[in-house]
Amino acid sequence: MFKKILVANRGEIALRIQRACRELGIKAVMVYSEADKEAKYVKLAEEAVCIGPAASSLSYLNMPAIISAAEVTDAEAIHPGYGFLSENADFAERVEKSGFQFIGPTPESIRIMGDKVSAKQAMIRAGVPCVPGSEGELPDDPVLIRRAAKSVGYPVIIKAAGGGGGRGMRVVHTEAALINAVQMTKAEAGAAFGNPAVYMEKYLQNPRHVEIQILADKFKNAVYLGERDCSMQRRHQKVIEEAPAPGIPRKLIEKIGERCVAACKKIGYRGAGTFEFLYENGEFYFIEMNTRVQVEHPVTEWVTGVDIVKTQIMVAAGEKLPFTQKQIEIRGHAIECRVNAEDAFKFTPSPGRITSWHMPGGPGVRVDSHAYNNYFVPPNYDSMIGKIIVHGDTREQALARMQTALAETVIEGISTNIPLHRELMVDAKFMQGGTNIHYLEHWLSQHKR
Ligand code: ADP
Repeated sequence: MFKKILVANRGEIALRIQRACRELGIKAVMVYSEADKEAKYVKLAEEAVCIGPAASSLSYLNMPAIISAAEVTDAEAIHPGYGFLSENADFAERVEKSGFQFIGPTPESIRIMGDKVSAKQAMIRAGVPCVPGSEGELPDDPVLIRRAAKSVGYPVIIKAAGGGGGRGMRVVHTEAALINAVQMTKAEAGAAFGNPAVYMEKYLQNPRHVEIQILADKFKNAVYLGERDCSMQRRHQKVIEEAPAPGIPRKLIEKIGERCVAACKKIGYRGAGTFEFLYENGEFYFIEMNTRVQVEHPVTEWVTGVDIVKTQIMVAAGEKLPFTQKQIEIRGHAIECRVNAEDAFKFTPSPGRITSWHMPGGPGVRVDSHAYNNYFVPPNYDSMIGKIIVHGDTREQALARMQTALAETVIEGISTNIPLHRELMVDAKFMQGGTNIHYLEHWLSQHKR
């Protein structure tokens, strides 16, 4: 096992990884930007290294600064968390070339999955069902683009091969709008992701977002840890996640889970990963794979009892997966609310000093957050300041626990989306379960204030 790991991230996930290291008896070196000096995990750190100014490009995305921090502190491995450099194949390669273990898959796996066109092609080869669409990247010729759309059938969605974070997508309903939409998406993709390649998919009208968590070791052992439903989204970004996905027959989950495991074995995948699907009319359609730990991993940890972050570290150190598929059982129901520093209904960011911070507790409540009373939320990063996760024997119990937890939560000095979560947790349709990816946007448009 490693003696020392460098955590190349910030926010709640940096704290989560620090906690996993502590439990494993590993020293965690925390890196931080000048804006993050006050974060809880920096104060708790045995060792912390400032890697640059607030701007991510100069700190959390600064590969030489991160690698030299690992060098000067004698770390053996680097955990990239999520976001930032976690899905950057060049970074993974530089980490390994510098003699450190990258806690994640091989640079090659990251590269294949990071390009959504090559990811889809790999999945088709591995027998994973995909959303019908163009065969690979769209050509430049308008005649061929129109032909592709006709054969896929309108509406279609144009997506950037290098896209992420819900950006680089455009829905097209008619042929008249097609060519312009393709050109705009290409231009945006080139500017935002450095890769103008786009592809086309059938735009599914009312799907749910259901994803499969997998874990794999270097010995081609792989398991799936059930599914998560992340359909409650705003602007293609997840707001609430839960496990299991309400109302989907276990048999279907097992079938798709086994496909994912087979695909992992086929591509020699190692570490934690998520296969994201759209689910409509009883069918799963692969959209992309995330080659890292995800924000919503705690709901899976809670229903399976598996510590995903610890297991990531163990398999990176060359250990075998400590469990088999047969040992994975789904117990009860877990729900996660992402806590964002933003206006609850207008969504304008709300950084600043937290003047009062009381987090909920009691049975079945988990809070993952690097914030605390009097913490200053820097304006430079993503607005998520933590997550409240609950578990119950049933979905009804989990809902009741989340309602109670949110009622107890006090955050003052900044605005947060807690009021939004409070309303959603008592919304009749959400309480029924199984809402689709458009539900939250629709709900918000009806609740204009
Ligand atoms: P990103 O990498 O930016 O998260 P994804 O490919 O995972 O992009 O898609 C994000 C979200 O966009 C999905 O959860 C879904 O809400 C929507 N979406 C993507 N592809 C389609 C599609 N073919 N039909 C309908 N919605 C889609």
